[in-house]
Amino acid sequence: MSDASIVPLEAKSPYELRVHLGDAVPEQSVREALANGDMGFLHSYTTGSTVDGPGVRVVAWTTGCMWRCQYCHNPDTWTLSNGMPVSVAKAAEELRKYRHGLKVMSGGFTLSGGEPLMQHRFAAKLLAAAKTMGIHTTIETNGFYGDRLSDAELDTIDLVMLGIKTWDPARHLALTGKEVGPTREFARRLAARRRPMWIRFVLVPGLTDDLADLAKMAEFVAGLGNVERVEVLPFHQMGRYKWERLGLDYTLKDVEPPTAEAAERACEVFRKAGLEAS
Ligand code: SF4
Repeated sequence: MSDASIVPLEAKSPYELRVHLGDAVPEQSVREALANGDMGFLHSYTTGSTVDGPGVRVVAWTTGCMWRCQYCHNPDTWTLSNGMPVSVAKAAEELRKYRHGLKVMSGGFTLSGGEPLMQHRFAAKLLAAAKTMGIHTTIETNGFYGDRLSDAELDTIDLVMLGIKTWDPARHLALTGKEVGPTREFARRLAARRRPMWIRFVLVPGLTDDLADLAKMAEFVAGLGNVERVEVLPFHQMGRYKWERLGLDYTLKDVEPPTAEAAERACEVFRKAGLEAS
């Protein structure tokens, strides 16, 4: 990978449509990067986030995702080559600038996506580099490729924010295009290793708001014993324009965000199971 094809890092919002930033990278270099993790593809990164893990955080969003969630608000992250190519050394160097501030603000670094484990070598290297700098590390993942990380690599991640989309297997397949089994398996593995975990769940009226389904998910999550909190995220329409601009068939255009009462009802299901939920 020549330096010429690595674009400079600049902070951008994940809500910006970003496409083709990595198109110039030769296929062979992409293959090598995926295999060794020396380079990754980032949709964007931001500083000062207070909603992507504990405290104030630097967040990097990777490109590439193996799922096709009907409600995805960043479908431009699905394609790896939409991201800007960044060497792991450069990304770590950027992160170093923030390490003292992040400590003072009880924050850290969050790697999100897309699905970061699509680039599992890059993810493992970048999270390990952050950990070595004494920065608190978090990964936000759907867990589908959790088995790509070794136990030692898992131990460099201080917090896993695991997205569980829905519980019923058939509904999960229809919603995401993939099976729920690997996500459950990853959750069990993290529980067995006593790794701190938060659960993220997106509440979509008519799609993921079946209370009986939620109760089953809550029972599973509570039984794990390592889940510190559950975040119920209300569905929103901020990603709709991306589906339209990318020419994708967006099936949720008429779906309204859930009411505050509906979100509270969902939280209650998790609380009833003994979990902290908000
Ligand atoms: S797992 Fe995340 S990035 Fe992938 S399709 Fe679903 S919501 Fe989008």
